[in-house]
Amino acid sequence: MPALDTTRPVLEGTGVSPGIAIGPMVHMGAPIAELPGPVSGGGPDIEFGRAQRALDEVARDLEQRRDRAEGDAFAVLDALSMLARDPALIDAVGAEVDGGRPAPHAVDAAIAGFRTMLEAAGGYLAERAADLTDLRNRAVARLLHLPMPGIPEHEAPFVLAAEDLAPADTVDLRPGHVLAIVTSRGGPTSHTAIIAKAMGLPCIVGCVGIAEVDDETLVIVDGSAGRVTADPDADEIAAAERRKEAREALLASSAGPGVTADGHGVQLLLNIGSAAAGAAEEVDAEGVGLLRTEFLFLDRTTEPTVEEQTASYHEIFAGFAGRKVVVRTLDVGADKPLPFVEPGPGDNPALGLRGWRLIANNPGLIERQLEAIAAAAATAPCEVWVMAPMIATVTEAEDFVALARAAGIATAGVMVEVPALALQAERLVEVVDFVSLGTNDLSQYTFAADRLVGELGELLDPWQPAVLELIARTATAGRAAGVPVGVCGEAASDPNLALVLTGFGCTSLSMSANAVAEVRAGLATTTLERCEELATLALTGTDGRDARTRVLAALTG
Ligand code: PEP
Ligand code: MG
Repeated sequence: MPALDTTRPVLEGTGVSPGIAIGPMVHMGAPIAELPGPVSGGGPDIEFGRAQRALDEVARDLEQRRDRAEGDAFAVLDALSMLARDPALIDAVGAEVDGGRPAPHAVDAAIAGFRTMLEAAGGYLAERAADLTDLRNRAVARLLHLPMPGIPEHEAPFVLAAEDLAPADTVDLRPGHVLAIVTSRGGPTSHTAIIAKAMGLPCIVGCVGIAEVDDETLVIVDGSAGRVTADPDADEIAAAERRKEAREALLASSAGPGVTADGHGVQLLLNIGSAAAGAAEEVDAEGVGLLRTEFLFLDRTTEPTVEEQTASYHEIFAGFAGRKVVVRTLDVGADKPLPFVEPGPGDNPALGLRGWRLIANNPGLIERQLEAIAAAAATAPCEVWVMAPMIATVTEAEDFVALARAAGIATAGVMVEVPALALQAERLVEVVDFVSLGTNDLSQYTFAADRLVGELGELLDPWQPAVLELIARTATAGRAAGVPVGVCGEAASDPNLALVLTGFGCTSLSMSANAVAEVRAGLATTTLERCEELATLALTGTDGRDARTRVLAALTG
């Protein structure tokens, strides 16, 4: 890596969303970690009244923000305001004040009890525990007359610094107003990282020293390099502005199919979960690399009929005329339960019946889905490929392909998300038409690290050389057999990692719409040979951070 100018503070972290921002830094109001020792309150009735008023005010504030929001933001704020008004929560607060606790402590204890219950339930419910923490922080801040945690009010656009962001905080992020995000905690798979990437905001996580930088300090944030320069001089500002402009010009001029500087094609595709996710024409992608069909039916309590499913797929296919759409059969179970599919037994659903495995417990489910996909494909204006998630053996892959063919599907493949299957890649490519690497789950299962646990972010980093080895092995097998091997996990949306994946021989990269231009621009300026060198280099890393640093140094050195 080039020598840093040590005359001014330069802070390092993990760059998780690329881009350059220059602006004043403002810290987010910190949540109140420790409550002051309980001072005797005004008696249970008075304390209960205070607690009720605080929760009511928090709920009203959330409802007002909800009414100005749309889409996902609306749903997050709506769920949170309902939690604040939940009668069971109010009763639990009542029990705490009756036990002698003053209002802030009663709210804290009651919400902690709810949080424990959700965490014990696991899966999607455990994820909602972060919402409860957010609610607790807001109500306690109100009761103690402290600044409300959350995105600060600031007139001029600013760089947001925080320990980490709660889901409800991200709802208030306005691009153009918040220029970049730097957090002291969190890893590459944290909620903050995913939201920043989706919004196209430069973002650095795990930047430990950021808490020491004063509010209103001018900073340069380089999301690709994972570097924050505090108090830059005029030369540094001018250099950062030049890099920012050059990057913006590159992105603006990037269009068309994915191709390296020497003309090697790599298809750039979209990950979508609804028809509203944007058609290829709007985002200039070559089609869909992952249609998460379970997302289409999250609100259904009974299985959609074949006709209903056909209509849903048809609507999506219509948006991608002349392109490719890779449909994934239902990946139900674990963190993605569906009300109409009975979950499997066992306390550890991510290792239990999930995806393809759950199909065995639900006779006819996969056949009906394949029938609907085939029916929609028959009149579709696009090329339809179909794949199954959570395949672990070559036999399972053969079984799925046989079912798909019997349903009349021309192109059938599987996802490689389980390390066991990657280790069998040479035999796998003999029985499928294509392979798609799901790097989110491949990381989870390679490292025995639950993908929902933020603290395990380092292990879940897609730059981990162990995961890269499995990708390389699968891609090599695919290349030898002439079978396309794509990537549809988060790994594909990291512009530098995309070069490494191309170097391994991956033939397509599928990502959220916001990431496409950046990945395309990176490919356009790098030859295939250079990608191969970077791929070899990444494999020499001792861990994810080291692999990322080595490749970055080679790219910028
Ligand atoms: C993956 O596991 O990488 C993947 C793309 O599938 P999902 O995130 O839907 O499990
Ligand atoms: Mg997966």
